[in-house]
Amino acid sequence: MAKASSDIRSASIRSSVSKGKPRKSAAKGGGTKKSAKPSLLSEAKIREVFRRFHAANPEPKGELEHINPYTLLVAVVLSAQATDAGVNKATRALFKAADTPEKMLALGEEKVRDYIKTIGLYRAKAKNVIGLSQRLVDDFGGEVPADSGILESLPGVGRKTANVVMNIAFQHPTIAVDTHVFRVANRIGLSHGTTPLAVEEDLLRVVPPEYLMHAHHWLILHGRYVCKARKPECWRCIVNDLCLFPDKTPAPTAK
Ligand code: SF4
Repeated sequence: MAKASSDIRSASIRSSVSKGKPRKSAAKGGGTKKSAKPSLLSEAKIREVFRRFHAANPEPKGELEHINPYTLLVAVVLSAQATDAGVNKATRALFKAADTPEKMLALGEEKVRDYIKTIGLYRAKAKNVIGLSQRLVDDFGGEVPADSGILESLPGVGRKTANVVMNIAFQHPTIAVDTHVFRVANRIGLSHGTTPLAVEEDLLRVVPPEYLMHAHHWLILHGRYVCKARKPECWRCIVNDLCLFPDKTPAPTAK
């Protein structure tokens, strides 16, 4: 049942992509001033963007450490408003003590709190980790279901988390839009979306199908290490000549 629903979703993604052409705008009205809105890249240029990302890093990986789908789910829940490095530091010990929902429940909320207290919002997150573990044990035999709708119904799990798990654990071509993906997609000219959902829908439509599986990883890594929020390092960007961002950073001058 769960798999069938996911397959339907994947099929609908593939179908929208195959029909797709870059949309003029994901959200009517946009939210930004019309005169300031840059164009979107053409289909051919979008393909070239992802061809270059693929050539530079054919198998991009997420940076959250995990052992199985369950520990991936927990790590992503813990990563909200926290860095992957900070989460990894805490989960190394946590996952040694508990790498299944049953073991996490045996550990208990108080001990989970102790393991993750270096992470922001740790009290609420510990509660969610116990809550989602309980649901998995009660309703899914301790397994993580490969169904984004069910995943989103678990405590502390939103659309982005569900998409990350569907992509990394179950190889579904989902796009998880975090702050990096949102920024980079808008800067390059892949989307004018003003919400994460609008950007997700745009990317599902315009990214060529053969690049969909890894697209969000490439965009996250590009945003984290090159197209940084405050000062994008445009002078060393592999898609500089394609990107439509009007305020590109010039190369630093030698002293
Ligand atoms: S050229 Fe600059 S703004 Fe455009 S994607 Fe590259 S780093 Fe980001």
